[in-house]
Amino acid sequence: MSVLVYVENAEGKFKKSIFEVVSYAKAIAKQMNTSLIAISIGNVASSELENLGKYGVEKVLNVTNDKLKSFINQAYASVIAEAAKKEAANVVVLSNSFSGKGLAPRIGVKLEAAVADGAIELPTTDGKFIVKKTAFSNKAFAMVEMNSENKVISLTPNSHKVVEDGTPATIEEFNSENKDSDFKVIIKEIVRATDKVSLPDAELVVSAGRGLKGPENWGMIEELANLLGAATACSKPVSDADWRPHSEHVGQTGIAISPNLYIAIGISGAIQHLAGVSSSKVIVVINKDPEAPFFKVADYGIVGDAFEVVPKMIEAVKALKA
Ligand code: FAD
Repeated sequence: MSVLVYVENAEGKFKKSIFEVVSYAKAIAKQMNTSLIAISIGNVASSELENLGKYGVEKVLNVTNDKLKSFINQAYASVIAEAAKKEAANVVVLSNSFSGKGLAPRIGVKLEAAVADGAIELPTTDGKFIVKKTAFSNKAFAMVEMNSENKVISLTPNSHKVVEDGTPATIEEFNSENKDSDFKVIIKEIVRATDKVSLPDAELVVSAGRGLKGPENWGMIEELANLLGAATACSKPVSDADWRPHSEHVGQTGIAISPNLYIAIGISGAIQHLAGVSSSKVIVVINKDPEAPFFKVADYGIVGDAFEVVPKMIEAVKALKA
């Protein structure tokens, strides 16, 4: 018996959300009184892998097969399931990231496991294995009882603290036995669409809506985001009108995000928008209408005209940085 955590990398580095997942998996391993093993796929420096020990990993299975350099759902799921069998891991933990969302059900099928996607708390320890997760685009919570021997849990980013707990991990090379059927899809080339901070992983997000009046006014949004090292996002009507790319659209029908800070500028706060952003740690709303629904879920609110408030914020951030 053990717990296996999949540590996905972004260009050879681990993001904060991975340390959260490892800390979460370590807490489960402690509950079960067992060890925590990680599996890494792709080229990651051994110092990065050893460093996972700081968060509780005892051993890292390192897969460096060239065929697995790029993320392929089916192939990665096979490798992770194979590793789980090798290590007799009956709990597999991963991030509920873009790739985690595709992997969790596939690993679940391969291990005949119960799957809880989007977990936000540790499982209960009173005999039953119950995990709290989000449901209906964050509008509700579900308590999922996982009754099968094998379990797959994907953790919502930003819902578990990073905890340092351990010493450098040992690294073991792992040669998986992928079948040809795992490679029905092959990634030929990856072209970066932008050098900007990626929205799903961003810790800070500056987002704007129809209150900005038109695409020509996004200069100040970009400037504020650049100064803060934040990603930019927008409401649905803004991307529908082609003021901004669809990749920035957040909400029920767009991307769901949970950054540490979400600054919403000229966005009314419709329920469909909130569905994708309400699990942000801190929400700041700037709107000229004091009755805007967004203020009800805001941690900080500024009632004011975006065209006056945002330039002042830019000046304030510049002054802080000077
Ligand atoms: P508006 O509702 O027009 O609000 C603009 C806001 O800007 C107002 O509150 C106004 O007071 C404020 N404002 C105006 N001028 C200024 C100024 N100068 N300074 C400061 N504030 C100002 N929406 C999403 O965003 N994401 C989704 O995923 C999504 N999915 C949907 C799915 C369905 C099935 C449906 C029916 C709708 C969906 N919507 C979604 C649309 C949603 O219902 C709202 O219509 C939309 O979020 C409104 O966008 P907005 O807040 O930018 O615009």
